[in-house]
Amino acid sequence: MNTKNKGVNTICTHSGQLDDTAFGGAVSPLYMATSYPFDDVDIKRYPRYFNTPNQEALCKKLAALEHAEAALIFGSGMAAISTALMAFLKAGDHIVLQQTMYGGTYHFAVTQLNKYGIEYSFTNGWAVEDFEKEIRPNTKVVYLETPSNPLLTITDIQGVAQLAQSKGLISMIDNTFASPINQNPIDFGVDVVLHSATKYMGGHSDICAGVVAASQAHMDQVFQSAICFGGNLSDYTVWLLERSIKTMGIRVRAQNDNALKMANYLESNPDVEKVYYPGLKNHPDHELAQSQMSGFGGMLSFELPHVDISQFFKHLKLIKPVMSLAGVESTVILPVTTSHALMSPEDREKQGIKDCLIRFSLGIEDIDDLIGDIEQAIAQAKTMTIPA
Ligand code: PLP
Repeated sequence: MNTKNKGVNTICTHSGQLDDTAFGGAVSPLYMATSYPFDDVDIKRYPRYFNTPNQEALCKKLAALEHAEAALIFGSGMAAISTALMAFLKAGDHIVLQQTMYGGTYHFAVTQLNKYGIEYSFTNGWAVEDFEKEIRPNTKVVYLETPSNPLLTITDIQGVAQLAQSKGLISMIDNTFASPINQNPIDFGVDVVLHSATKYMGGHSDICAGVVAASQAHMDQVFQSAICFGGNLSDYTVWLLERSIKTMGIRVRAQNDNALKMANYLESNPDVEKVYYPGLKNHPDHELAQSQMSGFGGMLSFELPHVDISQFFKHLKLIKPVMSLAGVESTVILPVTTSHALMSPEDREKQGIKDCLIRFSLGIEDIDDLIGDIEQAIAQAKTMTIPA
């Protein structure tokens, strides 16, 4: 079915669907073969060549969702990110990375890039000028993340993309937190879009996967690295992911609604010091977020300074204190002991990640039940907290 110019829910449901030509079933059949004919065919099919029938079909859906010419699906977000970075960087090159970003990407930069003779530097903030200041004669790539993990900072996508274009650099963005439902960076001039598909694309906390989407020319370059690093996703999981994405639009919009309502509630709670959510009018970059996002996302963070957080987590009945994010169930983590544990305390302080910062991934439950759970857990934790 041609889904060109169709709405996003139609693309989620129908784009890249494989026809069941044998039985006419309503969903994509699953082809598990690792061996395909090699005589008289142009394309040798093989899972690590990222071109089995299910991989190719899912990649069409992913490219359509990100307004890209092509996409590839990987075994994890980090497989996608590391492969894409290594595709565009070589010894002697330099990359500028946004200072506020996912801890695993930060860890990749500081532990791996120097081993290959690649220089890197972090911005001092997330404004376009912060990126410009770090550009050197050997810079090749500019890397941004917005909204960022865990402080929900907002970077001017078009501003950074134009800066990169004007200097002949590749711009890359981690679009995981927004998902393609809320933000399409290619429309703002970004070259390469990255996702941890473990998050909103999978959406049920049961799939680990990653995505790179870009122009055909850029994806040809990513493909050359991808077949060497071999980070493809198994066809069974590809099939599951294709099924999950069918509901991504309605899931993410329900999560957007819950996050905005929860952010407003937390703002009114006297035990909460600060709420980080781009949908709040008092977020410093609310207007910028509004100009480049069609929804503000299902993630927020808040500071709970005078309550024993381990007791708060222990008393939550509905919201799960578990790793990862973006599932249909609401979850919370403490970045300092989880996503940003690999970062030094000094670097965390520089970024503004406090020990009492809680990252909240809103699910699709009823908002009153979620607010009730937060209220009772804070009340219980306070009875256990010795006043300072
Ligand atoms: N990017 C962001 C923003 C993330 O939150 C994560 C994981 O939490 C990743 C990338 C890495 O993805 P994965 O865990 O699928 O490798």
